[in-house]
Amino acid sequence: MRATSAPSALANTSPMSVDAQRSRASATHATHARDASAPSTRSETSSSPVARSHDVIFFDCDDCLYKNDWRTANVITAKIESYTTERLGLPRGAAYQLYKSYGTCLRGLQEERYLEHEEELEEFLAYAHDVPLEIERDERLRAMLMKIKTPKWVFTASVASHARRCLEALGIDDLFEGIIDVRAVNWETKHSLKAYEAAMRIAGVKDPKACLFLDDSTSNMKTARAMGWTNILVGTHARDGGDLIVCEHADHIISTVHDFEDLEHFREHFHDHDAQDAVPGETEDADATVTDAVPT
Ligand SMILES: [Mg+2]
Repeated sequence: MRATSAPSALANTSPMSVDAQRSRASATHATHARDASAPSTRSETSSSPVARSHDVIFFDCDDCLYKNDWRTANVITAKIESYTTERLGLPRGAAYQLYKSYGTCLRGLQEERYLEHEEELEEFLAYAHDVPLEIERDERLRAMLMKIKTPKWVFTASVASHARRCLEALGIDDLFEGIIDVRAVNWETKHSLKAYEAAMRIAGVKDPKACLFLDDSTSNMKTARAMGWTNILVGTHARDGGDLIVCEHADHIISTVHDFEDLEHFREHFHDHDAQDAVPGETEDADATVTDAVPT
């Protein structure tokens, strides 16, 4: 069983509505994504000379917008393990098996009906994300994001409250159109095309080719490519063992998100002049902060 409704806890806290975000993201975007049939896999590689235009850029949050040697990921993983063993009574390692089977442990707990009700989901998510972040403010990242003129969204498999904490710690919480989290995509994981389709609907983009995506997950690269998005793998070394990552599904691979600015293919997304006019919230609404998207 999976939840599909938008809980009241997702009510926007920003003065800007989701509709306003959509209209600001693009005045020409349709409000519905195309059918789920995935385009064929493209053969573009990091050496491809083909530049393409994109209407929206999706940034993953954890281990993408920041990297801290997976310290935050590890403590969340430990919290999930303790929740499943101590509160749900599952054997040790069950959380990892659910993650392997369903893409995320959360999805597995829902599919196998360990978490069925909204209150149970809330309790699990609050417990799992009640962690110290160990994320430093990143002025270099802020400066780069401020130069990007294309609408930017955070697209995370986590929950918006956690992503917002991360963005605030980084000092970039005012630089995105909004946060598209697991609730906003009706609990789909990033291993599902449905999550990408929902993200497009929320961002108001109809053409998958108009989407540019940065994420640290190789499996997410595979799904994003199947969706027809241009994708950039952020991270060159594996979490387990530190081996150099080889990812045939990525169009580009960069070491950290900061390197995005150095990719010649995507220079069109950057202002080459006064950076201030690229900043959502500073030109239109000085009090605006990043907001949560809601399921569509
Ligand atoms: Mg990530």
